[in-house]
Amino acid sequence: MSRFLSKRLFALSPYVAGEQPQDMQYVKLNTNESPFPPSPGVIRRLSEAEAGKLNLYPDPEGRALRQKLAEYYGLKSENVVLGNGSDEILSFAFSAFCDGENPVTYPATSYGFYPVFAALYGLRAREVPLREDFSIDPEDYKQNDAMVVLANPNAPTGLALDLDEIEGILQANPDRVVVVDEAYVDFGAQSAVALIPRYENLLVVQTFSKARSMAGARLGYGLGSEALICDLQTIRNSTNPYNVNRLTLLAGEAALDDAAYYEENCRTIQKTRAFAAEELKKRGFVLTNSLANFLFAKCPGLPGKRYYQLLKERGVLVRHFDKPVTTDYVRITVGSLAQMQRLLEATDEILARPED
Ligand code: PMP
Repeated sequence: MSRFLSKRLFALSPYVAGEQPQDMQYVKLNTNESPFPPSPGVIRRLSEAEAGKLNLYPDPEGRALRQKLAEYYGLKSENVVLGNGSDEILSFAFSAFCDGENPVTYPATSYGFYPVFAALYGLRAREVPLREDFSIDPEDYKQNDAMVVLANPNAPTGLALDLDEIEGILQANPDRVVVVDEAYVDFGAQSAVALIPRYENLLVVQTFSKARSMAGARLGYGLGSEALICDLQTIRNSTNPYNVNRLTLLAGEAALDDAAYYEENCRTIQKTRAFAAEELKKRGFVLTNSLANFLFAKCPGLPGKRYYQLLKERGVLVRHFDKPVTTDYVRITVGSLAQMQRLLEATDEILARPED
């Protein structure tokens, strides 16, 4: 820390991203990336993209992509804001709708960036414990004076709320923004996008990083009422109007033209998820009913951290969250069938000799 750092940041502990080994020697099941490449249309569009135009700034309004997203969801482009990953949209929301007097609430076990944004913006945060079975109790968000942030499905549990439960939370909070972070919604949960025309306090946050195989492009978006989106555009234009680069804008447009490709990939992930969950259960694992592209799993007879380490020694990378509630579990991205088979082989080795 330099002697120049602002006092308000002394205690900030930044978000710790999952390991990204650059040699790619691992079966990488730790950051919920897609095992599938971007669609052929995206790859074509990027190779045709005039790299020679990178001397020019991108469209700061991202008009073509916002229009396409709006059509895709039956909304208007005024209902869409683009971000450098959905992390940036979340950051905009925390800074736009919360302050010293307007706190934020989210589950105590959820996406690790929420507490970081709360600390970064100096917010009071009410962190609500999950139920014993890791589910979210919607009632916990109904007597409330704070912006609500819910990942649906939640991470790292994979458990999802139904649309009517989300609607109940929206109805109970007419004077607060409710952010529904749908990073993993395409793998089987119900999206709240259909509620946008009826709830001016709803912000749905989605990403191209997971189901659309573009984590490396950094593209996310927020969908909501015109007034909410206008506020987020103000923050965006006050921080970085060129937050989404030229190539990513093009890739996003091409991805939306290839919806069928991504839908098929999601079906494959769901099948692979069911297969891997079944195989792990046969081996005595305890799992939540994940609707995301990852499993939240407890290895029989081994603490989560030990299982993570033993897998890593065998070239398989998963994620362990070293907190009391999650300590017995690991989060395993659902990759390709071959990757899941490697995970199972490594697991069989570990279970045969857990003391090694
Ligand atoms: N929300 C949740 C729940 C996530 O797990 C992630 C991925 N780490 C994000 C948002 C952010 O994803 P991205 O910035 O790649 O869109």
